[in-house]
Amino acid sequence: MTWQWAGIVVAVIILIGCFCVFFDHAVLTRRGTVYRVKTSQRKVAITFDDGPSPVWTPLILDELKKASVKATFFMIGHHARKYPAIARRVAQEGHTIGNHGYAHSVVLYYTPAELEEEIKYTEQVIREVTGQTTKIFRPPKAWLNHFSKNKIKEMGYETVLWSLNSKDWVGFPYRQIARHLVSRAQNGDILLFHDSGNVFTPEGGDRHGTVKIIPLLVKGLKEKGLECVSLKELMNDF
Ligand SMILES: [Zn+2]
Repeated sequence: MTWQWAGIVVAVIILIGCFCVFFDHAVLTRRGTVYRVKTSQRKVAITFDDGPSPVWTPLILDELKKASVKATFFMIGHHARKYPAIARRVAQEGHTIGNHGYAHSVVLYYTPAELEEEIKYTEQVIREVTGQTTKIFRPPKAWLNHFSKNKIKEMGYETVLWSLNSKDWVGFPYRQIARHLVSRAQNGDILLFHDSGNVFTPEGGDRHGTVKIIPLLVKGLKEKGLECVSLKELMNDF
């Protein structure tokens, strides 16, 4: 009996692991959000979550500058406060900044008042640090419900998810990720990457692969006729 239970537990863990690695659960919650922009223009947006990071964000910014690409960074308020110089550099180099909550908590179980406080406090920190006001919100881990979507809208924010997930936290070879994304990308796609974090925490991690993907991705998309722009541009200056 004990072995049977151990087998069931292992099977459940493997199933959950496969679900996280191979399935993008954001497809379950993206109704009513901006996850792709309907456009006839050959444009896509690269987005980074969970920064700023003192290690990875500067390297990513360097690659974006070399490639002459503007991207979008959904910052965690707590990280913007901890690393203000990096957050400021993101703004100074012309990238769009989005709101990713203050503590990277799943907002699914928040009351409307708690959700409002989380978003407003993050907005205040980002404004104080970078001078940019956030108008787009990305819920940590993409978990949100009908009530949170309504509350976010009521606050004048757009909830932004993604249409192409790089799964850069899994550790797949970066060339393979770049090839996969280039082959699937189409007009208006929003691509998800991370400039901080790992499987268990939103800070630290190893983002070498993400840094190396950028030039390959931008080149591949360009060859396909697709230009990488910030979400501000893709969403027509929200
Ligand atoms: Zn996140």
